Amino acid sequence: MDARRAEGEVRFEKVRKVFGTNLVVRELDLLIRGGEFLSLLGPSGCGKTTSLRMLAGLEFPTSGTISIGGRVVNEVAPGARDVAMVFQSYALYPHMTVAENIAYPLKKRGVPRAEREERVKRAAESLHLTELLPRKPRQLSGGQQQRVALGRALVRDPRVFLLDEPLSNLDAKLRAHMRAELIELHQRVGRTFVYVTHDQLEAMTMSDRIAVMHEGVLQQVGTPSEVYNRPANLFVAGFIGAPTMNLLRGRAENGAFAHPAVRVGLSGHVTPDLVLGLRPEDIVVGEGPFESRIRLVEPHGHEQIAQLDIAGGDVLTIRADAALPLAAGETLRWGVRAARLHLFDAASGLRLD
Ligand code: ATP
Repeated sequence: MDARRAEGEVRFEKVRKVFGTNLVVRELDLLIRGGEFLSLLGPSGCGKTTSLRMLAGLEFPTSGTISIGGRVVNEVAPGARDVAMVFQSYALYPHMTVAENIAYPLKKRGVPRAEREERVKRAAESLHLTELLPRKPRQLSGGQQQRVALGRALVRDPRVFLLDEPLSNLDAKLRAHMRAELIELHQRVGRTFVYVTHDQLEAMTMSDRIAVMHEGVLQQVGTPSEVYNRPANLFVAGFIGAPTMNLLRGRAENGAFAHPAVRVGLSGHVTPDLVLGLRPEDIVVGEGPFESRIRLVEPHGHEQIAQLDIAGGDVLTIRADAALPLAAGETLRWGVRAARLHLFDAASGLRLD
């Protein structure tokens, strides 16, 4: 198992990618452990797809090195990297049956027919595709087509699976179902999965670790709990979490964070200009030292999300139990869970503790 893990390790070292004058990936240093499920997460255009394509060999780094299993692959052709990529568009061959689509990578590599059939059968069973093997892609739903695309990767047993937004064409319900299937698949095959997404829910639910990117720069790498509970900077703080973290700008005054609506004691050395981060669920509702007018209430069934107009012109988002009688226009008492607040330097955006 250790050898299998070692061969699935991926390393980006000082990888840069420039398209014309556009610096798309800057000095990317990232170690992906063998067997790990790592998501590259960030908004559209942040360079995550380009990073994945460089790993697949479909783009070449402008500088820096990429290694798989301890071997530099910069000069290695895509087909010789022992990685399999699953695209958002599925990229199935319309004239081939499901069985032929899944078998195709093996056929191309000259795997004998009997072995091909056996491996296709196993991949199909694993992805609940057995009944669909004789069909053509157009006779399948989006979710089924996505599973065929996964089957085509799975049948090769590659060292690394590269997945580029594979669920984005599916409806919400099917996406949730496929997330669970992908988690199981990853556990079963024990291979490295590198998963590109802009959807934080996908990244949070499936990954061992998440690498958050923004404007070509890696912002933070950590477990879902680390990036959620200890975001390294304001970008990660604002990007991870739905509804998003409240970010209030204030100043350090006499050992406290001071804002027209909120004052909280601080410990340790801080810079004068601060941003206080408060997750909506870390605001105590119905009691506490502060009082504000409710601007609007959104019922979500199991909970309510409300916005408060607070002094200083800021709006504060809170989450509250569905049973609480909240109504727009009324005033609400609130407080903060002091142990759960986040503090950032306003100038650099960096976390301060
Ligand atoms: P998305 O989720 O929208 O695909 P992304 O984070 O994956 O976004 P990339 O696809 O890596 O981002 O693109 C990063 C930047 O590089 C974008 O500004 C894009 O326009 C640019 N880019 C990507 N491929 C090329 C190319 N072949 N030639 C020129 N510019 C490119």
